[in-house]
Amino acid sequence: MCGVRPARFCGQCPQCRSGASQLCQNFECLGNTHDGGYAEYALVRSDQLVPLDSLTPETGIWLEPLACVLQAIARLGGNQLAGPVLVIGAGVLGKLMVMTLQASAQVSVAIVDPNQAKVNAALELGAQAGWVVPRQGPAQLDTADLNRWAPQGIPTIIDATGSPVAIQRALEWTRPGGKVLLFGVSDPAALLTLSPYQVFTKELTLLASSGMSEESFAASFAMLQSGRIDPRRLISTRIELAELPAYLRGEVPGLDGKVVVTPQPLTEAQQ
Ligand SMILES: [Zn+2]
Repeated sequence: MCGVRPARFCGQCPQCRSGASQLCQNFECLGNTHDGGYAEYALVRSDQLVPLDSLTPETGIWLEPLACVLQAIARLGGNQLAGPVLVIGAGVLGKLMVMTLQASAQVSVAIVDPNQAKVNAALELGAQAGWVVPRQGPAQLDTADLNRWAPQGIPTIIDATGSPVAIQRALEWTRPGGKVLLFGVSDPAALLTLSPYQVFTKELTLLASSGMSEESFAASFAMLQSGRIDPRRLISTRIELAELPAYLRGEVPGLDGKVVVTPQPLTEAQQ
């Protein structure tokens, strides 16, 4: 059985030639620039096919998101990443980030999110600290908890929300000399109010990680095959293909987190 690497790189443009294929000028992507997995038929290039070998389909579905997470961690130095790391946003990708940081960079991780249940879930997945903060308005991390978890301050913050409020908080919460990485996708119309004085006086580094490269996809495959990480723990619900239209129309309440669509009817054990 094969999976499909959704991103298609030209291999010819300056970005591809310099090894930054995630910035390919002729970037194409299944499910984005072309019909994706929900289409009756989808055309892919043969080099996008990935034999799953020992990976099950429920592990294989994580190849692309984990590649994006590994790409972001590589932007921060990979194994040399300075911890501890605070992740803002405990959605599926935020939680996958928590798991991967521990498995690959072996740094201490904390999480913030407006939702207590999501913070708890991230703590169960290995985050060492967690805070519930409101979605809007001023927010402070509890000083005593923060000092216990990161007594020297927070050198690295990853925003997995794309929210300008969250990014502004990250710039405030980062210690001098720290890095803030944009990983969540923002609304194209969103604007950030940035204090150049704060960036200047704290000598902050603002980075971004967009998508994945061929290298990070290969790293994702190797990591899933090694069993060092098991993202199947993030699957919250399985639905059958026939249920998909109603789900996409928002007519199936209570489905949060990572929903997996199975082409075959579910067995009793899967329901
Ligand atoms: Zn290219």
